[in-house]
Amino acid sequence: MAIQGERIRVLNDAEPRQDGRYVLYLLQQANRAHFNPALEFAIEEANRLDLPVVACFGLLDGESGFPEANARHYAFLLQGLADAKAGLEARGVGFVMRKCSPARVAIDLAETAALLVLDRGYLAIQKGWYGEITKAVRTRIVQVEGDVVVPVETASKKHEFAARTLRPKLNRLWDPFIAELRPREPKHAADRLRLKSEIDVSDPDAVLAGMSLDRAVGPVKRFVGGETQARKRLKAFLKDGLAGYGAGRNKPEAAAASHMSPYLHFGQISPVEIALAVREAKGGDDDDRGAYLEELIVRRELAMNHVFYTDGYDDYDKALPDWARKTLAEQAKDERPHRYSEAQLAAGETHDQYWNAAMREMRETGYMHNQLRMYWGKKILEWSPTPKAAFERTLRLNNRYFLDGRDPNSFTNVAWVFGLHDRPWQRRPVFGTVRYQSENSLKKFDAKAYVRAVERLCAAEE
Ligand SMILES: Cc1cc2nc3c(=O)[nH]c(=O)nc-3n(C[C@H](O)[C@H](O)[C@H](O)COP(=O)(O)OP(=O)(O)OC[C@H]3O[C@@H](n4cnc5c(N)ncnc54)[C@H](O)[C@@H]3O)c2cc1C
Repeated sequence: MAIQGERIRVLNDAEPRQDGRYVLYLLQQANRAHFNPALEFAIEEANRLDLPVVACFGLLDGESGFPEANARHYAFLLQGLADAKAGLEARGVGFVMRKCSPARVAIDLAETAALLVLDRGYLAIQKGWYGEITKAVRTRIVQVEGDVVVPVETASKKHEFAARTLRPKLNRLWDPFIAELRPREPKHAADRLRLKSEIDVSDPDAVLAGMSLDRAVGPVKRFVGGETQARKRLKAFLKDGLAGYGAGRNKPEAAAASHMSPYLHFGQISPVEIALAVREAKGGDDDDRGAYLEELIVRRELAMNHVFYTDGYDDYDKALPDWARKTLAEQAKDERPHRYSEAQLAAGETHDQYWNAAMREMRETGYMHNQLRMYWGKKILEWSPTPKAAFERTLRLNNRYFLDGRDPNSFTNVAWVFGLHDRPWQRRPVFGTVRYQSENSLKKFDAKAYVRAVERLCAAEE
């Protein structure tokens, strides 16, 4: 199957450099060696030009590290890169890793490349790198969008109002995009090029030990990074979790969660690969499959839409609809019966044992079930001095502890707590007409069993 034209954008339409020694692929969003349209495109072009492919990665460290990234995030990233390196080299693709920004490594190595291929992410920092690269690189640059099912600008040309406005567009478009991606075989292996890598990521623990970063939030045992792990987990979910996902996805005790979000965030698995596997899975019925694809495609790609079309998606004053900010401002002086500092929240020291358990799961294992995330966020709004402080705290805690944090899904779902993609509900204190979530919502599942499960998960981290 050819790579869909909608995924491909030419950022510099110069001819490929005649004396180029290789086709360069900047691995940044899609950190994997398989089911990666940018990589397969690079191999196709390299074969056409009779050249090998080199993939490169720029590792940010120290003061110029990736915003909000800590040892937990870096451990997972590096495990994934070790896996990607092995996978790339087994396919004859070179892998060069340097301690610098992604833009820097791409610009430097593009000096002797015929063609530069980029993958695509939607965060401001990523858009900034693409801008730097297109300004500095003189040869042909092609970007291939492979971490969404339907490319963002194909799905919609504007900021969507809510899931209900994006859903029909995606439903109409997604079939041809949920397709196999045949691996191309490189005609020329890259090993004779002898390009220097500053970092050997084959030993991710050693690389992590040598970095200067925030170690207060450490790696977790619950999740090991890499595409091999991602596929293993997906297989287990299809076997044991998909049947019943439709009815059980809001029940943490039902084990109906795929845990794909950290792998999707780090580009260690393709959403298309997941969608195809879910469609073809024997376990589960149409309701289960439909419910899963709704989350994986509609909800996730609504988040991409929001981040792509919103300057200041991380800013309380810019990320929320006017009605939500207005109603929250009107209630800003309301009495808050419970008020906690950010440190108390982070430590899980509130009067609510279920909230504390959710916070503990997040702090100690890097993940929280979807059903609890909504409750968790709504309570921070209720227990903080102002809505703006609540928004900022929620985002900071989200991005600090979740392995899937710092993602378009993070910014969008935190904003959802404060009214984004939602409509006004009945007015009440503190929330105004922003949707409230009461303790009664905990009665919809076995909250006591959840607390016990968190205890087990945390004990396994010790
Ligand atoms: C306050 C709050 C904060 C959140 N923060 C994040 C975050 O930082 N990173 C993150 O990836 N998700 C976030 N979510 C969305 C969602 O909770 C997680 O994606 C999901 O719980 C991940 O677990 P899973 O992979 O087991 O999900 P599954 O139920 O197995 O779903 C499969 C996939 O669908 C997508 N998905 C599921 N629910 C949502 C949703 N509500 N919005 C968008 N995509 C969804 C995810 O990519 C997920 O991996 C947040 C939700 C809330 C309410």
